Amino acid sequence: MRIVTGTFSHETNTFSNIPTTMEEFAKQGIAHSDEIPRRFRGTNTIEAAFMDAAEEHGFELIWTVFGSAIPGGPVSREAFDYFSGHLLEGVQAAGKIDGVLLHLHGAMVTDDLDDGEGHVLEAIRRLVGPDIPIVTTLDLHANMTPRIIRNCNRHYRR
Ligand SMILES: [Zn+2]
Repeated sequence: MRIVTGTFSHETNTFSNIPTTMEEFAKQGIAHSDEIPRRFRGTNTIEAAFMDAAEEHGFELIWTVFGSAIPGGPVSREAFDYFSGHLLEGVQAAGKIDGVLLHLHGAMVTDDLDDGEGHVLEAIRRLVGPDIPIVTTLDLHANMTPRIIRNCNRHYRR
């Protein structure tokens, strides 16, 4: 079983006047493809938990991109395009897959979107079609928007 995975995580505070640019993501370390499991193996992180589950349940993880920034103002259009673009390219490059497993936060606002995760999930759903399960982790206080719910999970309806 082949599962594409990636991280695009931000908790946005729209009252903050510090924009969350590529530089803010770079401070937490941006990583691509196999750099990601090398960096996170054995750590107390969502990425390591994905690896543990893959080993336990015997599925292969195809890593795309890791991007996470500390809470701050809206995510820049450049950063949103960069990380969502790498997620989408990774899904596309993976070829035939059985699912998508994401680490998102659930509170991302960008320069022009009030539901960053919903738009990422919608774009991935459009790419993989209705039958591939899309699963994401979200923070406990995530904003569960209809767009997130509609595009996530195996009970997606056309
Ligand atoms: Zn949070």
